[in-house]
Amino acid sequence: MQDKQCPQDAGAEHKQVQELREISSAPTNSRALVLCSGGLDSTTLLAQAVERYGNDNVVALSVQYGQKHVRELQSAQAVAQYYGVELKMIDVAAIFAESTCSLLSHSDEAIPHESYDQQLAESKAAPVVSTYVPFRNGLFLSCAASMALSLDCSVLYYGAHHDDWAGNAYPDCSREFVEAMDDAIRRGTADQLRVEAPFVTWSKADIVAEGMRLGVPYELTWSCYEGGDEPCGQCATCIDRARAFEAHGLVDPLYMRKDVK
Ligand SMILES: [Zn+2]
Repeated sequence: MQDKQCPQDAGAEHKQVQELREISSAPTNSRALVLCSGGLDSTTLLAQAVERYGNDNVVALSVQYGQKHVRELQSAQAVAQYYGVELKMIDVAAIFAESTCSLLSHSDEAIPHESYDQQLAESKAAPVVSTYVPFRNGLFLSCAASMALSLDCSVLYYGAHHDDWAGNAYPDCSREFVEAMDDAIRRGTADQLRVEAPFVTWSKADIVAEGMRLGVPYELTWSCYEGGDEPCGQCATCIDRARAFEAHGLVDPLYMRKDVK
């Protein structure tokens, strides 16, 4: 049982507790690491993190995993520079050396030029789409967790969203997966680090709406699986991205750039 206090002491302690609560909930006390691919989703997430924590308290992490092109990594650099955020890069390509996933540079598999819905309908109950890189996002989150702790970050931001999980196209984008990884990372770091995935139940169109509020420079981002100088407009992620802007009656600003027709 707690000792009885005189009102003056109790008041002083109450004020102290209030101050501590204010300090502990103040965003500037925390640092965040954002997994940033240079695409639409993670760039919007980076903008959210900067709004909440300030650019000095945000670190972006991009991962080279042996993808067919470096175009998205160039976008990640441009986006990080725009927000004045430090960008870290790591290379985990060796992990996927044996994979035949169509996104990988050593793969002979072609990237499908059709929507995720079409791919899933034609997949004959295959567990995932052909652009699923084996447990890639689990690996990314684990790498990011190790790096985040070393950089004194207490939050790890992950841009998974509902459209990528729908139909189980990418099971490592599901809410269940995010919750399991969050639990594992909290347990494995003695609660020094947590995962936040604010878009996990959102559509890509919802993310674009948030991005418009935040003034995200989408002309700097890159989503297309094909690389090149301009988006192919035919791969699943190009189709998803176009639909997300169309849902708001908008044209993707990426197509308004001088170097992209
Ligand atoms: Zn494309």
